[in-house]
Amino acid sequence: MTNEEKPMTIPAPDGYDVVVIGGGAAGLNAALMLARARRTVLVLDAGEPRNAPATAVHGLFAREGVAPAELLERGRDEVRSYGGEVVTAEVDAVHPATSTDPDNDDPAFTVSTSEGRMLHARRVLVTTGLVDELPDIAGLRHRWGRDVVHCPYCHGWEVRDRAIGVLANGPMALHQVSLFRQWSADVTFFARGTTLSADEAEQLRARDIRIVDGDVEELVVAEDRITGVRMSDGSVVARDVVAVGTRMTARAGFLDGIGLRAQEHPSGAGDHLPVDARGQTAVPGVWAAGNVTDPSAQVGGAAAAGAFTAAQINGDLVQEDVRLAVTAYRRRPFSVRGEAQVTELVAGDARHGV
Ligand SMILES: Cc1cc2nc3c(=O)[nH]c(=O)nc-3n(C[C@H](O)[C@H](O)[C@H](O)COP(=O)(O)OP(=O)(O)OC[C@H]3O[C@@H](n4cnc5c(N)ncnc54)[C@H](O)[C@@H]3O)c2cc1C
Repeated sequence: MTNEEKPMTIPAPDGYDVVVIGGGAAGLNAALMLARARRTVLVLDAGEPRNAPATAVHGLFAREGVAPAELLERGRDEVRSYGGEVVTAEVDAVHPATSTDPDNDDPAFTVSTSEGRMLHARRVLVTTGLVDELPDIAGLRHRWGRDVVHCPYCHGWEVRDRAIGVLANGPMALHQVSLFRQWSADVTFFARGTTLSADEAEQLRARDIRIVDGDVEELVVAEDRITGVRMSDGSVVARDVVAVGTRMTARAGFLDGIGLRAQEHPSGAGDHLPVDARGQTAVPGVWAAGNVTDPSAQVGGAAAAGAFTAAQINGDLVQEDVRLAVTAYRRRPFSVRGEAQVTELVAGDARHGV
């Protein structure tokens, strides 16, 4: 059964230990870890992973070239095999909630979906990824993930030795064109008004990177492949492949209800949800992993971040469990507590050979 076919059943009488929002590489690896840690975990996924337009995942150890949809289907099956739930749904809000346990003042949340479902969670993990915003150039969006690419580590090998045009777009443009030169000797930099210093221009020319300035009008496409880049003066520069940096925008608008907003990423290439070294956001109890917090993470990195953050969340929940257990223990009638202490003492005596 595919994720799309799975009925929308969310049995949540007491809520979940963790609701994971987003079922890409980060969310599914996190859910796998949490389910194996015997946590109740629900993944709510809108079903639009960032790399959906691509035919294959590259640079991923032991799964090189797997189709993105196949990888995620395997991941969903693995989560379910340990009792985790994965459901197709879009989250539209997260709000603070009070625990049903009066002794528990740890954070808790209500997660609502666009279909009007309300879920209760002790912890929330945000793994919703990002949106790639492309410059407004005719033909670009249509070819995205095919012969319009952004990441040399994802696509460089596939476009090696081809005629590559790099469209300047944002602060990483020079870095991007220098990288693509590693995969092809035929690289043109479409500066699109970027002011190059004398040193920068010299660095490009020294590596035989041609510089073309002026506005780019559209991509020229014939027989379902790029053949060139048309400039605003009507001239066409023949190219097979176009590379362009995107502005990367975290999918985080649904977190307004808990006062959490994406902030500009230090690279200047977009925004993200900042987290601490453990993956916790500025709101206690809300964690984040993958592209939503680290725009540079590829599939392997996003999955690893999900697994790491899941372990941190489980540790956090264990601490809460200990606090609650101690409170409950202290409330026990003294005679019952005494019995437990006697049992512990006897066990201790036995260990010491008494
Ligand atoms: C064209 C292209 C090709 C790429 N090729 C490669 C490659 O070859 N190798 C590689 O390693 N990396 C590749 N990448 C990068 C890869 O896509 C990311 O590293 C990876 O998707 C990050 O995983 P993630 O789990 O953080 O986010 P995503 O995979 O984007 O998953 C996020 C999930 O959250 C869901 N979601 C979003 N908002 C909500 C909401 N409100 N409620 C519920 N669900 C929500 C989305 O629908 C999506 O399913 C490529 C990227 C692009 C754009």
